[in-house]
Amino acid sequence: PVDRLPEIQDARLKLPVLAEEQVIMEAVRENPCVVICGETGSGKTTQVPQFLYEAGYASGSGIIGITEPRRVAAVSMSHRVAKEMNLSTRVVSYQIRYEGNVTNETKIKFMTDGVLLKEIQKDFLLQRYSVIIIDEAHERSVYTDILIGLLSRIVPLRNKKGMPMKLLVMSATLRVEDFTDNQKLFRIPPPVIKVDARQFPVTIHFNKRTPLEDYTGEAFHKTCKIHRMANPATHRGILVFLTGQAEVHSLCRRLRKAFPFRKNEEADTSEAMRKFKKAKQKKTSLPRIDLDNYSALPVDEGDEDREAGIGDEEDEGSDVDIGDDPSNEEEKADPSLPLYVLPLYSLLAPEQQAKVFRPPPPGTRLCVVATNVAETSLTIPGIKYVVDCGRVKKRFYDRVTGVSSFKVTWTSQASANQRAGRAGRTEPGHCYRLYSSAVFGDFSLFSEAEITRRPVEDLVLQMKDLNIEKVVNFPFPTSPSAEALVAAEQLLVSLGALKEPPRTGRVKEMERARLSCPITPLGRAMASFPVAPRYAKMLALGRQQDCLPYVIAVVAAMTVREIFEDLDRPAGNEDESSKLTQRRARLTQMRRLWAGQGASLLLGDLMVMLGAVGACEFAGCTPKFCEENGLRYKAMVEIRRLRGQLTNAVNAVCPEVGVFVDPKMTPPTEHQVVCLRQIVLTGLGDHLARRVQAEDILDPKWKNGYKTALMDDPVFIHPTSALFKTLPEFIVYQEIMETTKMYMRGVSAVEAE
Ligand code: ADP
Ligand code: MG
Repeated sequence: PVDRLPEIQDARLKLPVLAEEQVIMEAVRENPCVVICGETGSGKTTQVPQFLYEAGYASGSGIIGITEPRRVAAVSMSHRVAKEMNLSTRVVSYQIRYEGNVTNETKIKFMTDGVLLKEIQKDFLLQRYSVIIIDEAHERSVYTDILIGLLSRIVPLRNKKGMPMKLLVMSATLRVEDFTDNQKLFRIPPPVIKVDARQFPVTIHFNKRTPLEDYTGEAFHKTCKIHRMANPATHRGILVFLTGQAEVHSLCRRLRKAFPFRKNEEADTSEAMRKFKKAKQKKTSLPRIDLDNYSALPVDEGDEDREAGIGDEEDEGSDVDIGDDPSNEEEKADPSLPLYVLPLYSLLAPEQQAKVFRPPPPGTRLCVVATNVAETSLTIPGIKYVVDCGRVKKRFYDRVTGVSSFKVTWTSQASANQRAGRAGRTEPGHCYRLYSSAVFGDFSLFSEAEITRRPVEDLVLQMKDLNIEKVVNFPFPTSPSAEALVAAEQLLVSLGALKEPPRTGRVKEMERARLSCPITPLGRAMASFPVAPRYAKMLALGRQQDCLPYVIAVVAAMTVREIFEDLDRPAGNEDESSKLTQRRARLTQMRRLWAGQGASLLLGDLMVMLGAVGACEFAGCTPKFCEENGLRYKAMVEIRRLRGQLTNAVNAVCPEVGVFVDPKMTPPTEHQVVCLRQIVLTGLGDHLARRVQAEDILDPKWKNGYKTALMDDPVFIHPTSALFKTLPEFIVYQEIMETTKMYMRGVSAVEAE
C-alpha cells in the first residue's frame, strides 16, 4: 500500500491518466506489450509506474524500469515519483550515464535509454525487471528505437521461459504506426490506449511576417507586449521557446532588465492593475497583438500530434551569437510590472530546473524561457501564453564525411502544435507563433527519427556484441540507410572490432558479406566500454607502457562535450565584458601551461585536456577552481565520474592490470607521450589530415589548410588549439565541426614515417 499525502492525492486525481488506470492495468495483464498515448502533462510518466507498483509488479524479485531519452527527465521524474509515493529515493531511484542513486532496495528505476541498452549487454533477458516502460517514444531517439526492437524479441523469450515480462511504450504523439503497424517489430499489433486529454482550446496567432534572423528580438517584443497587455492581476505564465542556451540567457537578461523584480519586495498589485487599466484605455496599443500582426486561427484540438525535436543535451551545444538590440522604449526598466524570469534547458543545474515547478513569488508573473525540453519532457504549471520561435537546434552529420554541425532549422508541425498545447493546460490559452501561417504550412509534418540522421557505428558494434550479425535484418521501428550501415561496418573492420569480410568475385555476395561481419574478441572488449568505438579502441590498447590512466583521462575528456567554458559569449554590460576579457586571458595562459613542453606539445589539444583534468583533480575538482580557470564545472564533474566508470570497465575486462583513479596523477613521461600519440592514432586513424604544402596553395583559401581523405575543401586548426601556431604536417583530429569555417576539434600531431 502506498501512503500518499492528501495534497498529492488531490493533485493526482486531476490527471486524465488516473481515469484510465483500470483500462491500462487490464490491458497490461492481458497483453505482453501495450502502447499508451496521451497528451503531455496527462500524467503518464509520473503515474503509470505507480499503477504498476500498486498492482504488485515490483513486489516479487523483479522491479519496474522506465527509460527516458533525456537525463533531465530521468532525474527529475524519479524525484517526483518518490515524493508522490512518499518513498525514499533508495526505493524510487535513477541511473544516468555516469551517476545514480540505485540501491538494492530499488523498486522503480528511472534511467536513460542508453543505460538500459548497456544492461541488455550484460543480461539479454533483463531478469531484474518485471516490467519495462519505454517513455517518450515519440522522441524517436536512437536508443529508444533500438530498445523497442530488442524488447520486441526479449518479451516473448521471457514468456516462453516462464519468466513473464511486460513492455509498455508511452508516447505523446498519436502517430504510433511505426511501432504498431510494423509486422517485423510486433507480429500481433499491441493494443493502443489513448488517454483523453483535458486540454483547453488554444488560439493560435501567426505573425504576418517571418523574421529571418532576429527571432530572439522578436520574441522579446512579443513577450513584452503580452506582459503589458494581459491582465497582470491573474499572473498567468508565459513560456517562450528558443533554440539554445545562449539565446535563452540573452532573452532572460533583456526581460529581467525590462521588468525588474526585486526579491523580498512584494510588487504593488494595485499599481499593476492601474497600469493595466490605463493601457486598456489607450485603444491604440491593445488590439495590436491580435489584429495587426496576426491572423487568428482556432487550434485544431483533435490534431495534437507531435514529435519533439530529437536530441539530448547535445542539441543545445555551440551557440550562435546574438547581439542585443539597441535599447528602445521597451527596454526601459519598468519595476511596476515585475516578471519572474527563469531559464530552462538541459544543461542547467537540477536545482535551477526545479524552480519552474514552484509558484512564482507573489505579485509576479512567471516567464520561462526554454529550449525544446519544455515541449514534452517537462510540464510547467500555470502557462497561458506560449511564444514560439518555430525553430529548433539540431546536430547534422554529413553522410559522407561525418562532419557535424549544429544548425537552427524550422521545427515540424507536430512539434509546433505540441508547443502551442503547453498554453492550454489549465485554462484556454494563446500561442504566438513568430512566423506566418504560410511558413508553418511548409514545415514537415513530423521530425525524422534520429537513427536516420546520424552515424551508427556505436549501435552496430553493440548489436554485434549481442550476436545480431545481420544488423540489416534487425526490427528497427525505422531503419538506418544501407549506406550508413555499410559505413559503420567498414569503420569497425578498420578498428579491428569486426572480421574483414571474405573477398569474393560476386558483387552481390560482397555486399551481403560487408553487412554481416562477425565480431572479434577485440570488438567484444570494445563493446564493453561505455564510449564510442574509436575511443573504446584506445582504451583497449591503453595497457602499453602504463599508459592506461592517461588514456582513460583523455578519453573521458574527449567524450564529454566541451570542457572549456564559453567565454566568447556576449556580455550583458561593461563590467561583465571586462571580466570576460580577463578570464579569457587567464584561460589562454592556462591552456599554454596544460599543453606542456617538449614532446608533450605534439599531443596538442589532447595534452591540454589531460593537463586540465589533472590540474582540476589535483585541486579537488572544486567549482572555484573551474570558475577561475575557465573550465566548465559540470563537464569536469562528469569527467571525474566517467574516469571512475571507465576504470572499472577496464578492470572488469582485464583484472590483471589493476588500474585505479589517481587524484594526484603526474604528467606522462616523454616516452609515454609517444605511446599515447600512437594509441590515439589507432582510434582516429581515418581522421588523418595533412597540411597543404606551399606549392599546392593555388587558391588563397587553402592557406594553413589541411587536406583530409574525404573532403574536397580544406579544414582548419582552430585559433584556440594548442597546435594553431605549430601547424604540424600530419595530424589526427577528433571531429570536424562546421562553424564559421570547417574546424577540427581535438587535434594531435602525428610523426611522418
Ligand atoms: P506526462 O508524462 O503525461 O507528460 P507527467 O506525469 O510528466 O505527464 O506530469 C503530470 C503532472 O505532474 C503535470 O501536471 C506536471 O506539472 C506535474 N509534475 C511533474 N513533475 C513535477 C515536479 N517535479 N513538481 C511538481 N509537479 C510536477
Ligand atoms: Mg512524460
